[in-house]
Amino acid sequence: MTMTLPYCEPLVPREPGERQIPEPPRRGEPGGPPCGICTGKATKAVWSDENWTLHPPVGGSLPGAVWLASRVHVDSFSDLPEELAADFGRVAARVEKAMLTALDDVARVHLYRWGDGGSHFHVWFLPRPLGMLEASGMMLPLWEDVLPNVPNEELAAAAKRIAAAM
Ligand SMILES: [Zn+2]
Repeated sequence: MTMTLPYCEPLVPREPGERQIPEPPRRGEPGGPPCGICTGKATKAVWSDENWTLHPPVGGSLPGAVWLASRVHVDSFSDLPEELAADFGRVAARVEKAMLTALDDVARVHLYRWGDGGSHFHVWFLPRPLGMLEASGMMLPLWEDVLPNVPNEELAAAAKRIAAAM
C-alpha cells in the first residue's frame, strides 16, 4: 500500500479561493489574539529545559503526538537566536529518540512546522504508526484529523511517557 488520502474517491479538485491580503493577524502578533503559549493557555509542559518546553495536544487521535516550543517568543527558525537554532537539532533528536523508546509500534517520527495559527515557534512531532503505510508522508496529519479523537488524558499520558524517556 502506498500513501492514501483518508477519504473515499473520487475527490473533486477545486479552485483556491480569493487571496486574503493582508492576511489576518495570528495569535501573538500585533492586532491578533494573545499568544496562548506565553499566556499559559496551552497545555502544561510535560518536559522542559532552559530553552524548550514539550507539550501534549488536546483533541487529537494519535497518542504520542507532542509539540515542542521555544521558551522565547520568536516566530520561525530564522528568528531563533543562533544558540537556540543550533540547539534545535539536539533537542529534536532527543524528542525523536524518546518517542521511539517510550511508544509502541512507531515506524517513524514526522516533524511539522506550520506557523499559520500562532506566531510562537513550535514544531509538531507525530508518530507514524508501524505498518500504517497509507499514512506515509503528508498523509499522516490528514489521517490524524479524520480518525476519532482519543481522550485528552490518553494524549497527556503518552506525552508523559515520552517526557520520562527524555
Ligand atoms: Zn508566545
